Amino acid sequence: MLGCFLSPGIERKSMSVESTLAELVRIDSRSSVSNLGLINHLLPRVEAAGLCARLFPYADEHGVKKFNLVAVHPRSLADGGEVELAIVGHTDTVPFDPAWAEALTLVERGGKLYGRGACDTKGFIAAALAAIEEADVRRLTRPLALVLTADEEVGCLGAKRLAEARPFSARHAVVGEPTSLRPVRAGKGYCLAEVTLRGREGHSAYPALGASAITRAARLIARVERVAEELKRDAHEAFDPPYTTVNVGLIEGGTAKNVIAGECRFTLEWRPVPGQRPEVVAELVRREAEDLRRGDEDFDCEVRVVRLDGGMETGRDAPIVRALEEATARAAGTISFATEAPQLAELGADAVVFGPGDIRVAHRTGEFVPASELNGAVPILRGLIERFCGPGHQ
Ligand SMILES: [Zn+2]
Repeated sequence: MLGCFLSPGIERKSMSVESTLAELVRIDSRSSVSNLGLINHLLPRVEAAGLCARLFPYADEHGVKKFNLVAVHPRSLADGGEVELAIVGHTDTVPFDPAWAEALTLVERGGKLYGRGACDTKGFIAAALAAIEEADVRRLTRPLALVLTADEEVGCLGAKRLAEARPFSARHAVVGEPTSLRPVRAGKGYCLAEVTLRGREGHSAYPALGASAITRAARLIARVERVAEELKRDAHEAFDPPYTTVNVGLIEGGTAKNVIAGECRFTLEWRPVPGQRPEVVAELVRREAEDLRRGDEDFDCEVRVVRLDGGMETGRDAPIVRALEEATARAAGTISFATEAPQLAELGADAVVFGPGDIRVAHRTGEFVPASELNGAVPILRGLIERFCGPGHQ
């Protein structure tokens, strides 16, 4: 961990949220490259706003340096100290098609701001910065944190490191993701396993001499469908669809059309509803594999779990949920995609997911955030800062 940076004492003229977003979009911060450029750009601004910033560097699995940034007020907050409100955004974006010439140039058309990350999640970061600057943190009486993470799009890896390092704990958190400015209090988890079936290679003219790994995979996948049906019984009505979903998204196997396949692999992805143990699907699929082995002695199957993130749920009556419902005049909903909210929950927070833009256009070529939502997010976040950290806080 690096120490708190000294404020360079820069007085910045207030920038429009759009121009802040244009600057952020210009800096390429796909998960495959370092986010240092973006962090270096944001640091002086965060410091000038009166927050004390610390960087938490790490090398990703390809050796690329990544940085989480935790900026707090007041400067005197102890390491591991509790903040009242954490505002969290991820700095990385998904890749973009090289044919999208304006991916790194914010372009406005008909009230929509286009650019990679405009919706997910640089728009939220731009709005959060504006809200913090407007709030004037020096007058706040309770601790506030702005948390900028790396590697969200590749498995919330930055947030997981923070949850482990625990540089702070939080009572309430707003996790920025495009929810069209609707508060979201619960989300499904995300889990992934790689399943490998092995058989015996042989000449396809003599099936009895071999055992097809592809046929074995097909039998198991038919059982996966059955598991998916079984999971519907564990309903969580707040979600659409209201149960844990399962997907076999990739399959690969065999070496030639006239060879009995020796190996077949497929991915097994599931999104567990909160309250359900994330391991459940892997256990059920292993049970099915065991059952298949009863009729096929050398049925050889390995289920290797590579990701196991459970769902999250914050109570309907949590103060942060109520506050955002009031501020947006909309009831809190749920989402079926994974966010960093579970890591903030690990850090002690009642977490809500919230931000400008629509998740359905995120990750696409031509992703955009509506300018009205981008600007609309600022007073809402500003109001939360005031409500949870301001002098009037009860
Ligand atoms: Zn995102």
